[in-house]
Amino acid sequence: MSETREDTTVVIVGAGVAGLTLGTLLLRNGIDCTVLEKHPRAYVEARQRAGTIDTFGVRMFREWGLEEVLAGDAVPDSGFGFYIDGEAMPVDVDDDNDESLYCPQQVLVRNLTDVFLREGGDLRHEAADVSLENVTGERPVARYRDADGTARVIDCDFIAGCDGFHGVSRRSIPASALTEYSHVYGFNWLSVLAAVPANPSGMAIHSRGLAGLIPRGPRASRVYLQCAVDDTPEQWPDERVWSELEARFGTPVTSGEIVDRRIVPLRGVVFAPMSHGKLYLLGDAAHIVPPMSAKGIHLALHDTEVFARAVIRQVKEGDPGLLDRYSETCLPHIWNYQAFATWITDTMHNAGFSGHEGEFRKEVARAELRRQFTSDAANKLFSELTAGTN
Ligand SMILES: Cc1cc2nc3c(=O)[nH]c(=O)nc-3n(C[C@H](O)[C@H](O)[C@H](O)COP(=O)(O)OP(=O)(O)OC[C@H]3O[C@@H](n4cnc5c(N)ncnc54)[C@H](O)[C@@H]3O)c2cc1C
Repeated sequence: MSETREDTTVVIVGAGVAGLTLGTLLLRNGIDCTVLEKHPRAYVEARQRAGTIDTFGVRMFREWGLEEVLAGDAVPDSGFGFYIDGEAMPVDVDDDNDESLYCPQQVLVRNLTDVFLREGGDLRHEAADVSLENVTGERPVARYRDADGTARVIDCDFIAGCDGFHGVSRRSIPASALTEYSHVYGFNWLSVLAAVPANPSGMAIHSRGLAGLIPRGPRASRVYLQCAVDDTPEQWPDERVWSELEARFGTPVTSGEIVDRRIVPLRGVVFAPMSHGKLYLLGDAAHIVPPMSAKGIHLALHDTEVFARAVIRQVKEGDPGLLDRYSETCLPHIWNYQAFATWITDTMHNAGFSGHEGEFRKEVARAELRRQFTSDAANKLFSELTAGTN
């Protein structure tokens, strides 16, 4: 079989938020890179996930002159509410420092792809069987097969593993060189995509479990329902989804066609260190936060910015200092956000269903929430949550 051999400075594995943002930052600083994505472009640009970019992300894109990637499909402002036992809580989100905005992840990815390609970026979709070699040597190698089946080889200086939790990059590091820290919460979420406006829009805390109904567009919404770890999507037919939502919100809910339903495991995971030789892990490839915290994109963008600055320093000034400290720079920030994620996930779930942690923890969680609803800290909490619970 024929084989073509090429050369670049950085091979980026994965064209998600981290990979595409990194590619654009490097390109704009004159650093060659090639992005390898295993899925077709249409698939990546339609993949629904998160929907909100927090203040850090908005400011980061602005500072790098990339604000245009946040221009998204309009999502109606339907007034995000909190319900406890069916009672709507008064929420007054008024935080002058909050610049977070709704931008569905698939829109962000589509915009990032457009910008990267427009500026001459080398983005290769349908790159099959990516494998990484010699990552602890002088020049790492990335191999893959293109859509025609041609075997391709790229020699490079650095590899950025931006290929998500199930990608190939982290698996290229020997297990003995990585420590995995993980926590499972003991419950999951049923995640449903419905072709109907979110009405009402918000989160509901209830003894039956947590529920969320989040706008995703003028005629689309994401439904979350806390469920048991062994639940399957088949156990949640349409009628059960809508009646359970109504029960947990304690108010009528506008129902409609369900276009996707899946179980999302609630867990926190961190792999350390985040580099091995010249292979660096960014975003979900290195860590997962539970969706309740809505900080996955934040962390992916933070890693990306730290890594981009480090590569630019190395290539332009011959100074490896930032690259050498990549992992130790990112990890404290990641643990800080894991702390927030753990607190908000425990509090929001324990305040409703007492089957996991018991009545004592339920009352403690409710006291925590009451404090949030009645103190200045409420602004901060609710802007964090309304900024990210989709
Ligand atoms: C249902 C759901 C809801 C979420 N809600 C939120 C939220 O509200 N707020 C929030 O901030 N975060 C949320 N997240 C998390 C957020 O989506 C992720 O943290 C974010 O996508 C991480 O970006 P990434 O670039 O690291 O990884 P990804 O976006 O996963 O991108 C990885 C890319 O690598 C590609 N890839 C994988 N394997 C290979 C391979 N072998 N070769 C080549 N390419 C490969 C993938 O196809 C993908 O395009 C949610 C996630 C899910 C699943």
